[in-house]
Amino acid sequence: MGLFGSKKSQSCAVCKKESSSTSKPKKEWNLKGVVCTDCFVKLMKKPHPKITNPDDKCVTCGAEPGGLYLWKPKKQWDLKGWLCEPCYNEKEKADNELKKNCVLCNAKLGFIARHAKKEWNVKGYICKDCWKIQESKMKTS
Ligand SMILES: [Zn+2]
Ligand SMILES: [Zn+2]
Ligand SMILES: [Zn+2]
Repeated sequence: MGLFGSKKSQSCAVCKKESSSTSKPKKEWNLKGVVCTDCFVKLMKKPHPKITNPDDKCVTCGAEPGGLYLWKPKKQWDLKGWLCEPCYNEKEKADNELKKNCVLCNAKLGFIARHAKKEWNVKGYICKDCWKIQESKMKTS
């Protein structure tokens, strides 16, 4: 089967014209159906945005510095994907700020800042006391 070998007339997915010489569009064009020869040639010439791996860009700002320049967010940030360096630094700064006080009782946190468990539905760091309270709550429920 040749590239433009189809005899049956089909309508082109791009220009909608009926054509007997259609071919399958390339996967990266993201088209359904077939395209006519003219459109095929046009599409071949057009530069297409490469399909990027969603892992390859910063989840916060969408920058695509390339896989080597992306940082894996810390587990407690609850982010899926990767961060570019500026966003990572920003996030870390905010995180350090968050670590200063307990999100529940606002007590000053020292080095013992612990990130609340996901299942507690608490975002941020909590003090030892609040940790205990949360933990006992979990046991009773
Ligand atoms: Zn066409
Ligand atoms: Zn970013
Ligand atoms: Zn607390």
